[in-house]
Formats: sequence, structure tokens, C-alpha cells
Amino acid sequence: MEHFAELHLHLDGSLRPETVWELAGKQGIRIPAGSVEETRFKMQVPENCRTLEEYLERFDLPLMVLQEWEALERVSFELVEELAGEGLTYAEIRFAPQLSMKNGMSQDDVTEAVIRGMRRGMERYPQLSAGLILCCMRGADNQEQNVQTIETAKKYFGDMVCAVDLAGAESLFPTSAFAPVFARAREYGLPITIHAGEAAGADSMRTALSFGAGRIGHGVAAAYDDRLLEQLADEKICLEVCVSSNYHTKVVSRLEDHPLRRLYDSGVPVTVNSDNRTCSGTSLKREFALIRQRLGFTDDELLKMQKYAWEARFLKQIQ
Ligand SMILES: [Zn+2]
Repeated sequence: MEHFAELHLHLDGSLRPETVWELAGKQGIRIPAGSVEETRFKMQVPENCRTLEEYLERFDLPLMVLQEWEALERVSFELVEELAGEGLTYAEIRFAPQLSMKNGMSQDDVTEAVIRGMRRGMERYPQLSAGLILCCMRGADNQEQNVQTIETAKKYFGDMVCAVDLAGAESLFPTSAFAPVFARAREYGLPITIHAGEAAGADSMRTALSFGAGRIGHGVAAAYDDRLLEQLADEKICLEVCVSSNYHTKVVSRLEDHPLRRLYDSGVPVTVNSDNRTCSGTSLKREFALIRQRLGFTDDELLKMQKYAWEARFLKQIQ
């Protein structure tokens, strides 16, 4: 069977603005938006976004309403619905449970709410299989929460949870600072993917690989390091590339400058992903169209990248 699969997709960057607006009303939260349209505007990346940090501010508003069980369950269901509607057959959704603890929920509670919503979605849309990746966050004083994320991932591993990740501001908090967190993940045998080589260089990716990462989120920096390119191709390390997102966070200044071609031609298993659907105003189909039109990839090459995605999936038990 042909699969249409996406490996790198954030729950909190992919919420429906209508839902965020409605949830804010229900929860009695004052959000910095006076209408659905303004909510949508605040959730989307500004045209003149300059940095990854500025991009990450788009998550403040969605996270305000993601502090309740019902809200987490609902948005998880809706994202599965969205993906099934686009024709996806396989998706790995990721989020950071530690960002939804403001009202007293534990990371276990938060994760369970998301699992519940995704499961309800998959019951409704059985054509889609989905896995859940729990993100640790780059930060200065959240080591304990990150270790707890690994513990939660261990507890729910195999029950939707299929891997752990590290997300957040890469240039402010270097990958090397998170060694103890991923030592724990390795000890538990949890599959690892890490955002690296996005806002920092090839060394950040090397550190991620030394932590046992089997995949890398973005990994664009490898295009400028021949030795690393060779290593990624030899060891078949999948790169979860997100072209629109890279443009929005100014990893590349023009879409046409994206080094996806160089990564692909070097034999690295590169995959195409949307990263944040609402924030970047995109979908998997749109990303594929962009890559065909702006970066000159052929249909056969796009199929090959789909094959790479399927082969690099963390939920291997699916046929
Ligand atoms: Zn990401």
C-alpha cells in the first residue's frame, strides 16, 4: 500500500483558530485577541518574522488554552481529523507535556488526555495510524521537567507514545546541555529524535547523534558539512525537513535557497514535513507542491522521500 506519511508535526502549532477562540471563551480566559480572525492572525507567523525565537512566540496563545484535559483531548482529536482529511495514512504528532501543567495537571495526565483524543480520532478515521512523540524543552531551569517527560514517555511507550524529542530555542540553549536527559532516554531504550541543525550548526547535530538520536528534526546545517553529510547517508539517519518553517525562521532567507536538493543528492534519507500547520499556514500537500515548484523535485523524487518517511517511522509494528 502507498503511504502518505508525516513524521514532524507539532500539536500546539497546528490548532484550529476557531477552536482556540472557542476554548478561551469556555475557559473564561482573556486572550490577546478580540475575534476568531484576530486569533488566527496571532497564531500565524508574521510576514517579516526574523528568528526562530520570534516564530516560537506564536505558541503562546494556543498554549494558554491547553491547560485543561478537555481542551487537550479535543485538539488532539481535531488534528487527527485534519490529517485524515488531507489523506494521510501515517503521522507522528509531537508536543511538550510540561507546557500544559499551569493548572495543576501532571505530565502523565496531560499525555493521557492527548492519547485519549488521538485514539478517538483514529477510531473515527481508521485509515490513519498515528504515534505520539513527547518533547523535552530547551531551557535554563527545566531539567527536572525534562527528566519527568522521559519518565512519562517510558510509562506510555507503546500506548501511542513512540519516541522522545528536544524542541525549543536551539541557539540559546545548546544541545550539549541536555546530555543527562537523553542518557535516561537511552537507558530506557526510547527512540530519540532531536531538533538540531536548525538555529545552530553541524556540531549541534553531532551532539544529538552522540545522544543516540535515530532521526534529526530539520538538520539543515548538515548541507554545509561534507563529513556529516557522509555520516548521515552511511548511517541512514533520517532528516525531518520542514521547508516552509525553515523559511519562516530564517534558516534560509529565500525558499529557493533551501539546501534540500544537496541533502537529497548526498543520499541522506530526507523527508518532507509541515512542522506547524497553523503557524506556517501549510499542510503536507502544500509542502510537497512547494518542493516540486520552487526546488525542482520530480514526482519520482517526491515518492522516494515518502518512502524514506515510511521507513523511518517510529511505530514499526504497522505493516
Ligand atoms: Zn519542529
